[in-house]
Amino acid sequence: MAEHATTRDAATTHRTTPHLLILGGTTEARALAAALAGSPLRVTSSLAGRVAEPRLPAGEVRIGGFGGPAGLAAWLRAEAVDAVVDATHPFAAVMSGNAALAARATGVPLLALRRPGWAPAAGDRWHPVASLEAAAAALPALGRRVFLTTGRQGIGAFAHLDGLHFLARSVDPPEPPMPAALEVLLDRGPFTLDGERALLREHRIDVVVTKDSGGAATAPKLTAARELGLPVVVVERPPLPSGVPVAESVPAALEWLGARGTGLR
Ligand code: NAP
Repeated sequence: MAEHATTRDAATTHRTTPHLLILGGTTEARALAAALAGSPLRVTSSLAGRVAEPRLPAGEVRIGGFGGPAGLAAWLRAEAVDAVVDATHPFAAVMSGNAALAARATGVPLLALRRPGWAPAAGDRWHPVASLEAAAAALPALGRRVFLTTGRQGIGAFAHLDGLHFLARSVDPPEPPMPAALEVLLDRGPFTLDGERALLREHRIDVVVTKDSGGAATAPKLTAARELGLPVVVVERPPLPSGVPVAESVPAALEWLGARGTGLR
């Protein structure tokens, strides 16, 4: 009996409490969920389920895909979602596109929370490229020992480069196809400048490959490469879907939520 009452109360609370969905998998997504803990919002964070042991955000968490834009739209309706913040990684372009389509189909307001990209500083030897494939094509002319920091999912783009030696850093082990000469370093940021400097030296790295992820946690490799005079192949970000407003910080996202009448000030 008491259990039924609790369930009914919870259901009532869920109907009257504004519901925010955070599409997550980033530091900013976790920071936003943490900032909203104890707020008048019901907050659900969604993770793709790619990482074996993800860092879990505060509040409710669901894990796994929605089943494309239609699946996400159905979820938004079923869970009476009032607003969505797409705080996925700047390279999670499929999910961001799906979020834009589902928001349009349901009329649910959508905000993209995107940290700014990195900007080159004096002394940087950056080679901007449009894709992982273009990064692979640029490598043979730049060096033989490569520090690859583009994540385990993109490693297949470098699998055919037989003459090069790769040190790849990722959270979970990569899977084939992979380059023949590959050393894997399982680690997750934040990284320090001292650590990155030592790593580049110890492994006698000639060239670094990175996505333009932005943020402080993984930026020290760029400073270390600059100090050592190493070239860095920088994969540029895919565009955001058009018409989606963007916040570059968690405070800016909180402001957007406050302006939506979600009970936040
Ligand atoms: P993606 O290619 O844009 O998305 C592929 C599919 O994964 C989506 O269609 C969706 O499946 C599912 N998905 C992605 N993000 C999701 C989320 N937050 N919640 C539920 N389902 C999600 O994504 P990705 O680049 O593989 O990234 C996957 C996750 O890792 C994201 O959460 C992202 O923030 C994080 N991440 C990505 C990178 C990167 O470099 N790409 C780096 C660090 C962290 P359905 O179509 O079935 O809904």
